[in-house]
Amino acid sequence: MGVGLRGDDVFRCDVGLVCMAEIQYNASAPVLVTGATGYVAGWLVKRLLDGGFTVHAAVRDPAKTEKLKYLNAIAKQSPGKIQYFKAELLDEGSYAEAMQGCEIVFHTASPFTLAADDPHKELIEPAQLGTRNVLEQANKTESVKRVVVTSSCAAIYGDNADLENTQNEQFTEADWNTSSSLTHQPYSYSKTLAEQEAWKIAKGQSRWDLVTINPSLVLGPGINPFATSASFSLVQQFGDGTMKSGMVDLGIGAVDVRDVAEAHMQAGFNPAAQGRYIVSGHNTNFPEFASILQNRFGEAYPFPTKTLPKWLVWIVGPFLAKNTTRKYIARNVGLPFVADNSKGIRDLGLTYRPLETSLSDMFQQLIDNKLVTPEEKVR
Ligand code: NAP
Repeated sequence: MGVGLRGDDVFRCDVGLVCMAEIQYNASAPVLVTGATGYVAGWLVKRLLDGGFTVHAAVRDPAKTEKLKYLNAIAKQSPGKIQYFKAELLDEGSYAEAMQGCEIVFHTASPFTLAADDPHKELIEPAQLGTRNVLEQANKTESVKRVVVTSSCAAIYGDNADLENTQNEQFTEADWNTSSSLTHQPYSYSKTLAEQEAWKIAKGQSRWDLVTINPSLVLGPGINPFATSASFSLVQQFGDGTMKSGMVDLGIGAVDVRDVAEAHMQAGFNPAAQGRYIVSGHNTNFPEFASILQNRFGEAYPFPTKTLPKWLVWIVGPFLAKNTTRKYIARNVGLPFVADNSKGIRDLGLTYRPLETSLSDMFQQLIDNKLVTPEEKVR
């Protein structure tokens, strides 16, 4: 039986006890993944299935078989098993059955949209109440030993301008987002409230420990190429002509979805994991995205080549893009994003794929699924 700390050694082990420092996991126990059909969850479920685990996949509607077919195809070819459970973040007790017998809970479910009409209902409630619902269920489920919550860099910082208030001009796990609200960056606010809720509940008990994974913008191919994640719509906009007349110079962090899955595996099974982890491979910006895509896919797609001046974005931005306010533009456009990812590298041995790989693989998937079309066909 494998006892190593690095991914594959541990996950190849046969059914039995996986002994890791103080924590002993029963490798035959099922593992819960909430939001299993989501973009970020897809690669995590794959890793678990490849490792021989039984995955309890909590999804909103198991009757929507079209959504499940990608995970089913992986399960068919792997030693692990997948079982679906119907669960809704807002329904109290909804995760009871799915969590039964699980020692590790991965809570990934939370809406990721930047175009909410009613942010309280669409973002805050499912994020915050959903986290409360899942973690209070962990309190009631004796088998649970560790909970991994998929938080976000959005719970670390709100605007790029927040960099000014950091100790060494970079965001670290010690930072919390204090600038977002219901009316300014509501997605970031939802992730902040959700993570704070998670720590509050974790500190109120001692049976299970909490580890949070705080990814920056996640890129790379999806297990389900049609997942609802805003990651897809953003990369799509680089190649579908939306930004042809110019892009904003926005500093942003980016990380590959497969590296985020590895971070979750480490957070779940590595006893050295503790606290929050910024999981971000690259401090980058939109012009770098465009240049990578242009170099890789050439002239066939209408990638942006010009960067719009900030004053112009400030004037026209609010009329062109939903939920883009002058305050958002002032505090983000033209400003860098810088995060310190050293804690995850040090504690969990994380490594990061090149940005070129993540963006190219993701854009290729959009092409393969006809979600972007070569320029001559764009009207
Ligand atoms: P996604 O593909 O849209 O996945 C969101 C998941 O949440 C879906 O599985 C969805 O279930 C589930 N969900 C949403 N509302 C729900 C509800 N009311 N009840 C039950 N399940 C619900 O987006 P994603 O990018 O993978 O996001 C997954 C997690 O990663 C989120 O916590 C997000 O904040 C975090 N994250 C994402 C990024 C990124 O760049 N993508 C970066 C940092 C953190 P259905 O399949 O049934 O719709």
